[in-house]
Amino acid sequence: MHGKAFRIKTTEEPQDVPEADLRQIPPLPVQKRSLRYTIWKYFMIFIILVLGLLWTFQIVLLPVSYQAMKTRSITKVVATILTSLEDKNFEQIIDRTAYDNSMSILIMNLDGSTAYFTDMMGGNGELKTTNFFKILQYRQLVDESASGYIYFHVTNDRFKTETLLFGSRIGTAQNPTGYIFINTSLDPISSTVAILQEQLVYVTFALLSLGLVLSFFMAKRIARPIVKITKSAEHLAQGSYNITFDGTGYDEVERLASTLNYASTEISKIDNLRRDLIANISHDLRTPLTMVKAYAEMVRDLSGDNPIKRAEHINVIIKESDRLAMLVNDILDLSRIESGNQELNLAQFGISQKLTEILQRYTLLSEQQGYVFHYEKADEVQVCADVLKIEQVIYNLINNAVNYTGADKQITIRQINGPNSVRIEIIDTGEGIAQEKLPLIFDRYYRTEKSKREVIGNGLGLSIVKAILKQHNFPFGVVSQLGKGSTFWFEIVRA
Ligand code: ADP
Repeated sequence: MHGKAFRIKTTEEPQDVPEADLRQIPPLPVQKRSLRYTIWKYFMIFIILVLGLLWTFQIVLLPVSYQAMKTRSITKVVATILTSLEDKNFEQIIDRTAYDNSMSILIMNLDGSTAYFTDMMGGNGELKTTNFFKILQYRQLVDESASGYIYFHVTNDRFKTETLLFGSRIGTAQNPTGYIFINTSLDPISSTVAILQEQLVYVTFALLSLGLVLSFFMAKRIARPIVKITKSAEHLAQGSYNITFDGTGYDEVERLASTLNYASTEISKIDNLRRDLIANISHDLRTPLTMVKAYAEMVRDLSGDNPIKRAEHINVIIKESDRLAMLVNDILDLSRIESGNQELNLAQFGISQKLTEILQRYTLLSEQQGYVFHYEKADEVQVCADVLKIEQVIYNLINNAVNYTGADKQITIRQINGPNSVRIEIIDTGEGIAQEKLPLIFDRYYRTEKSKREVIGNGLGLSIVKAILKQHNFPFGVVSQLGKGSTFWFEIVRA
């Protein structure tokens, strides 16, 4: 028969843990367009938009903006001429302006006679002597216009070319001194548009085919790491937890890959933990169950009629059932805390009073078995934590101290008040824990070899302590010296 760990339990009856989620891997959603296709599609849309803009601006809007430009230049020319009328180099200025802008310029006196005429349109314009009658009509239009100027397109009958004609009065409406007519060709635009159009056709084909090829390869490149990661993820989903995700290419996939790598290591850890857990639990359950069965058989076959033996055997059965219940409670506690579903029920309470209360529950133990509890008290301080959970921490630590303390059976509980927190130390005089074992003892199901042999506890007590203190964000730890004993400590925040 094996030793029985001393336990005082505090927690309420365990509630049902939620049933495991037994859903299968969800079926793939309805086939959507692939990433590669989508990238390619948007790239093509972009190219078509760019081409559309190019065509609109070059072919449709170019004549419009060309005319606007011409109009602006005519306005400028008129201004130049008007300011230079008095200049002695007047003729030279007009010639220069006409030459620079390929215009014909006619300055007319009030009586209709020509004051000055320069033709830089090679005789193809409207303003020429053979057109005199027409020019007089234009003058009439200027006179009739409210604004004092006219502005319109004229199509040359012979050459079918478009020109722009501008006519204006010189001087004020009441006191006109003459007229100015300017004619400029609009022709170059149609040939420019034709050239552009031809070029644009080439550009369009080039851009479309280049875009088609480029976007195809680009999409492939962008999608490749994602496709690769998806393949690895499928392996992961099928249970290969040691898969590594390779996400070289660009920042986003690299981050995705490293997140998935992290997830897969975590999943693999959890999977290992689950295997260990099942192995450990079944081992832990088997021992007491074997005992229960063995003693029950003994009662049935041998000791049924012997009241003393029977009582002894039945006591073993009861003790073993208690052990089983305790184990199951601990497993449930731990999984509830670790699942993170449980909210902390934070409240203020006096720590000294709580410690005194807890220690009172050990009176029987000290009276019956000679354990000595020293409470090194400090001033009462209000702290803030989940009372029930912190009680569980303290009980677990004191239970361990009782289980592992030395032959002198001394256990010290020390309270040290700090400015922001209260440090609680639970000190025993046992054999202590080897330095290399210290980082392990808070792990689930970890038991040192010695305790394994003695089958004290179930290796869950300190993992419950750790889970609770971590949930509170309270610091905790252990200091131990072989042969001298251990000090388990944690700090609880002051209210
Ligand atoms: P157990 O139920 O085995 O005590 P715990 O999780 O409470 O499980 O503790 C894990 C292991 O840490 C124990 O098996 C024991 O080896 C060691 N340990 C815990 N408390 C003490 C202590 N006060 N002194 C020495 N060893 C301890």
